[in-house]
Amino acid sequence: MVGGSTKVFGLFGDPVAQSLSPLMQNLAFQELFLDCCYLPFLVAENRLADAINAISALGLGGVNLTIPHKERVLSYLDEVDEQARRIRAVNTIVNREGTLWGYNTDAPGFIASLESTGFKPRGKKAVLMGAGGAARAVAFGLAEEGISKLHIYCRNIDSGGLLAKDLQVYYPGLLITIEGDGASTSRALTEADLLINATPEGMYPCHQEEPICTRKQLHPGLLVSDLVYNPSRTRLLKEAAAAGCETLDGLGMLVHQGALAFELWTGEKAPVDLMYNAVSNALRKL
Ligand code: NAP
Repeated sequence: MVGGSTKVFGLFGDPVAQSLSPLMQNLAFQELFLDCCYLPFLVAENRLADAINAISALGLGGVNLTIPHKERVLSYLDEVDEQARRIRAVNTIVNREGTLWGYNTDAPGFIASLESTGFKPRGKKAVLMGAGGAARAVAFGLAEEGISKLHIYCRNIDSGGLLAKDLQVYYPGLLITIEGDGASTSRALTEADLLINATPEGMYPCHQEEPICTRKQLHPGLLVSDLVYNPSRTRLLKEAAAAGCETLDGLGMLVHQGALAFELWTGEKAPVDLMYNAVSNALRKL
């Protein structure tokens, strides 16, 4: 129940109507009997500065950021966590007595989800599809965990080049290849331990289209991770299962990035299983 002392958290983005974050964050607050609530705020691209000022003005406890604000928000914050600065993206703001701190929980959220499969990134070879915001978080997360080789497949070779350049500053020992046409990705896949789709390919309503990789490019022993979570069973994951690969859907990352934001805001351990079941059930009904 919202009252006079309720601490308000929220999501800034455009669009926000489809977001599952209010559902999982509010359930988590209720489960821990915290006097907090989480609201979606539709914030247009050109109103971000106003919205950030409102965090302090209204005394919000913190917010999540989604498309299109994750990158541009960095210039409006008082302090930015080191990993978020490297990734160049913030998805969580914490208001500490008027000082706004920016964090990126996508990277550790992805790693937590990956580790739930038993996969150990150290020394492994990964193929990453995409070089956008989520791909950058995944790449830095994996580099931090000690992967030995990263192949980046991207249509826009400039964004892949920038990601590789940024990674090389902090992880000079990481072998990186970049490619924009698909031919060498098949070769990279033959020796890869992990494939991550960090593009929107396979996402509803285009979920019936050809997957970004075909069954022939995949091999048993490869772990195939799709960041797309609607549908949770994408065509890529179906092809991967048919090829004998282990698979990981995007729900785990969604829940873990939210759980880590919850912990930054409240200092309490997030009820991860409850949050996971809530979003999983909600997606089944969509
Ligand atoms: P983004 O910043 O727009 O980046 C998308 C990337 O995918 C860009 O590199 C884009 O290339 C590339 N791309 C798009 N369509 C492609 C295609 N047909 N073939 C090859 N590359 C293609 O988006 P994002 O925020 O990184 O999100 C990417 C996906 O991850 C979305 O599906 C999003 O829902 C999902 N995601 C999931 C979670 C989670 O918690 N599970 C978290 C964040 C994001 P161009 O630059 O050439 O357009």
